[in-house]
Amino acid sequence: MKTCAKCGAQKPLTDFYAYGGKVKGKCKPCWSADTAARLLETPRGVANRLIAGARKRRPVTVSVEQIEAGIVRGACAVTGLPFVIGRSGTGARALAPSIDRIDPSLDYTPTNTQVVCWLYNRAKGDGSHEDVLMLAEALCPKL
Ligand SMILES: [Zn+2]
Repeated sequence: MKTCAKCGAQKPLTDFYAYGGKVKGKCKPCWSADTAARLLETPRGVANRLIAGARKRRPVTVSVEQIEAGIVRGACAVTGLPFVIGRSGTGARALAPSIDRIDPSLDYTPTNTQVVCWLYNRAKGDGSHEDVLMLAEALCPKL
C-alpha cells in the first residue's frame, strides 16, 4: 500500500504509475486530473496565476490583459525563446512564462512589467539586464 501525495488516500501500488522502476507519488486518478488541468491551462489562467504570485511580492498595477497578451505572443520579450506552457519537467520550467520587473526597484506597473521566460527572470533576480548580459558573454566562449 502507498499513500497518495495529493488525495492522501491509501491505495495498492497498482493504483500508481511507475516509470523506470520509480513509483509516482500521486495515484493514477490524481495524476490524470493534474495532467488534464495543465492541458486546460489558458493564457488568461496563466496570467491570473502570475499576477497572484506577483502580488505577494510587490504592488501590481499592470492589467491581466497586458500579461495575457505577452503570453499569447508566445515568446520571451527579452530573449525571444518560445514559451512552454502546460508541461512540467526539465526544460519546460525554464521556458515557462513569468513576469519580470524591468527595473527591479519598481513595482509591477504597466511600463515596468514584461513577460519573459522563467530562465531569464531567474538569472536576473534582483539584478539588471546588464548582469544577465555579463553572464551570457562569459558563457558564450565556452560553447
Ligand atoms: Zn490520489
